[in-house]
Amino acid sequence: MKIRAAVLERTGGPLTVTELDLAGPGPGEVLVRLHASGVCHSDQNAIDGTAETRCPAVLGHEGAGVVEAVGDGVVSVAAGDHVALSWAPSCGQCSECLRGLPQLCAAAWPAMGVGGLLDGTSRLSRDGEPVYHYSLISSFAEACVVPERSCVVIPKDVPFEIAGLVGCAVTTGVGAVWNTAQTRPGDRVAVVGCGGVGLSALLGAVAAGAAQVVAVDVSEAKLEVARELGATATVIWAGSPEDTAEAVRDASGGGVDAAVEATGRVEAMLTAFLSTRNRGAAVLIGIPREDAVLPLPALSIPRMERRVLGSIYGSSRPERDFPLILDLYRRGRLPLDKLVSHRLPLERIDDAFALLRNGEARRAVLAL
Ligand SMILES: [Zn+2]
Ligand SMILES: [Zn+2]
Repeated sequence: MKIRAAVLERTGGPLTVTELDLAGPGPGEVLVRLHASGVCHSDQNAIDGTAETRCPAVLGHEGAGVVEAVGDGVVSVAAGDHVALSWAPSCGQCSECLRGLPQLCAAAWPAMGVGGLLDGTSRLSRDGEPVYHYSLISSFAEACVVPERSCVVIPKDVPFEIAGLVGCAVTTGVGAVWNTAQTRPGDRVAVVGCGGVGLSALLGAVAAGAAQVVAVDVSEAKLEVARELGATATVIWAGSPEDTAEAVRDASGGGVDAAVEATGRVEAMLTAFLSTRNRGAAVLIGIPREDAVLPLPALSIPRMERRVLGSIYGSSRPERDFPLILDLYRRGRLPLDKLVSHRLPLERIDDAFALLRNGEARRAVLAL
């Protein structure tokens, strides 16, 4: 079939909205008619080369839509189902899956690296030449073919733009608090960086019953949003990790149990670490440059039992966590609607990325 899609022609290059050929779903694959796709920092990292990506590629990995057709052997979804798409379709059989780490599945990550689906080949092409997938999803398009295990069926009353965000930003942020940090009622949480992922972590902390939620950002406008979403205190960037962390410790009565870092910047990671109290953890979500190094004051690690926890995709199990998150959303306990600040058509994808880069958007969503 012919689809319209936004193609990254080369690293650093423009996104061109153009017509592509999309092959039908192979065995174990699903054709999804997309209705919404969030615009994420990981896509920006692919555009500017922070993360190496095989081009030409269709980016986008925060998608949701309706199943249009299924390939041989697909049993868990059927035409007409509404689905949120997971970019970490775990195999359930590798050593990582067997030890309870589906987010690190040894089958999914290598496939992502070569720009194919799970068998390493692409369903996208233009004039007979291959166009590559991104994160097994490629949701900056009218439709996509994805692995069956990327499809999580959702209730039909959930807006597609919300389901799309649950496919990446929301699960990454909420999961970091619930799964990685294991935040409990009464805990103190800080969130460093209040973009879409950071604000999701903030909402997750509020929903988990954190007693204090301290939001940190360089932008007063973002801190205003954080207060609206339930932050109990806000701290504006004070010019250095040390001074900013001191302000967080003051605002939280002596430091936090979990400091979630959602920017990928080393200074923000250090701020998170220095914001913790005894036994506290810096929870690192933001994706840094490949050559970034994080120096930490070593003494406080044994002396205070401070920890650093990595978190990818919120340490989540999408088939368990997407429904859990959407259930709380439907009951009003996770006001995810407040994350969506801009809705744009595919043709305006450059504007969506401009909003991401200049920090204006909570989350910009493409209506497809
Ligand atoms: Zn993402
Ligand atoms: Zn696996």
